[in-house]
Amino acid sequence: MLKIVFASHNKHKKQEVADILGNSVELIDLEDLNCNEDIPETQDSLQGNALQKARFVREKYGLDCFADDTGLEVEALNGAPGVYSARYAGPACNFDDNMDKLLLELEGKVNRKARFRTVVALLLDGREYLFEGEVKGEILRQKAGSKGFGYDPLFRPEGYEQSFAQLEPEQKNRISHRAAAVRKMALFLEVYKKN
Ligand code: IMP
Repeated sequence: MLKIVFASHNKHKKQEVADILGNSVELIDLEDLNCNEDIPETQDSLQGNALQKARFVREKYGLDCFADDTGLEVEALNGAPGVYSARYAGPACNFDDNMDKLLLELEGKVNRKARFRTVVALLLDGREYLFEGEVKGEILRQKAGSKGFGYDPLFRPEGYEQSFAQLEPEQKNRISHRAAAVRKMALFLEVYKKN
């Protein structure tokens, strides 16, 4: 079985990714490697950041690995916060600060369309592969729900009445941006293992 590191400290992401991959690969956690340091993500694109995180871990530990980077792209804000989603309200901000800023920026705006976009970078046997996933939806006028993380309480996926933070984790995992990208990687790995 392929052994691959997931280069993330985010426990929500780790759970989502583990649920999607199931037993198809052996996931190695950064904690298993005693890696507690922040992984740099200083690029100006999702692809750049995903590659930067995966390369950091590969160079340090010499293991196959993958990393994801996600942005929330809001149409009325010309794609912001996008690649800066984590630090939208400033360098030391938390999820609530980011959501409060987003609500403020969208005050009085009729167009609430948005999408989450994820890029996964996989470094395997010395090669680099990219997989992308997205989910379209809209930004609610107030936070709803307490599951998930990040902007989940403000994001209502298309075709649903509830925010991501109100959906069960399995429901989010069926339709989410990250799930779509990770599933593409899983399909790729299935074929890769056979060759
Ligand atoms: P990251 O750099 O990929 O960790 O993601 C940047 C920011 O996007 C995070 O700090 C979260 O605020 C947000 N984010 C990423 N994935 C999700 C998600 O699945 N739901 C809600 N917010 C997310």
